[in-house]
Amino acid sequence: MDSRMDSAAAASPLYEARGLTKVFTSKSSAIGGKPLVVRAVNDVSFDINNGEVLGLVGESGCGKTTTGRLLLRLLDPTSGSIVYAGRDIARIPNRAMRALRKDMQIIFQDPFSSLNPRMTCLDIIAEPLILHSSLTRAQRREKAYELLRYVGLPKEYAPRFPHEFSGGQRQRIGIARALSVDPKFIVCDEPVSALDVSVQSQVLNLIQKLRHDRSLTLLFIAHGLNVVKYISDRVGVMYLGSLLELADSEEIYLRPLHPYTQSLISAIPDVDDTAGRERQLLRGEIPSPTNMPSGCPFHTRCSRKIGRCADEKPLTREVAPGHSVACHLI
Ligand code: SF4
Repeated sequence: MDSRMDSAAAASPLYEARGLTKVFTSKSSAIGGKPLVVRAVNDVSFDINNGEVLGLVGESGCGKTTTGRLLLRLLDPTSGSIVYAGRDIARIPNRAMRALRKDMQIIFQDPFSSLNPRMTCLDIIAEPLILHSSLTRAQRREKAYELLRYVGLPKEYAPRFPHEFSGGQRQRIGIARALSVDPKFIVCDEPVSALDVSVQSQVLNLIQKLRHDRSLTLLFIAHGLNVVKYISDRVGVMYLGSLLELADSEEIYLRPLHPYTQSLISAIPDVDDTAGRERQLLRGEIPSPTNMPSGCPFHTRCSRKIGRCADEKPLTREVAPGHSVACHLI
């Protein structure tokens, strides 16, 4: 099946993922002793262009975080290719990957558990430089101070430990650490979902600023379309490991085509009132990834399904320049 979803935008991809698949297999389940198989990412294809922000949305367990970790090769893909800057990195050995690690960083969802509680703020930010630069200790310290200022924290906070900061401040430290090695690409893995609403926009503004200041390419992962629309050039919608729709963020917000995307848009307060659309609420629970439905992965919850949906997986089609959808109705 060709589930390729290409960008119609700039033809200069930093990343090209093709047929990306990740299957997790447990040794054996508690009941029956059979191994549990989870197809976390299932034949997913997309590009991320140089300097763009690609948003990835979907409910918990849809495979968006696994996709981000595959791109960074923090996980090994089961099959498929990952071309980074013209080179297939899907199966290159760890030693070769180490040289590329400096280019690729991650900002985690939970800033508290991602920071070493026994290290000071200064050491956390400077630590990646020990491995990835030839800077002296004094130079590393200077760079950490400079990054602290950049993310909006005073130099005086440098000797403090993670527990002495608020959630928003800890996320700023995580961002400074990611920036310390001057990466080209950052996976932002739900970077604001663990934060109070009052500080979410401050952290989003900081991510916007660093994207423009440093010409970064980002994969921005989030639960809801309202957050990704604000920051992304294009948005991909994932469900049970599959990429169901991909389009420019404005396009997907105004003209969602896949029934699942339409449900996600409906969940955003005030959207349907302004667009005059009928509200389409999601029914039922997301199926277990250990027991994937046949055919269209969304058919068990889709109010518009037709006869073939339960048996036949829909092909992905480009319905307009840069707008691709996997649904039998489209
Ligand atoms: Fe619904 Fe069928 Fe389209 Fe799947 S392929 S989203 S079940 S209409």
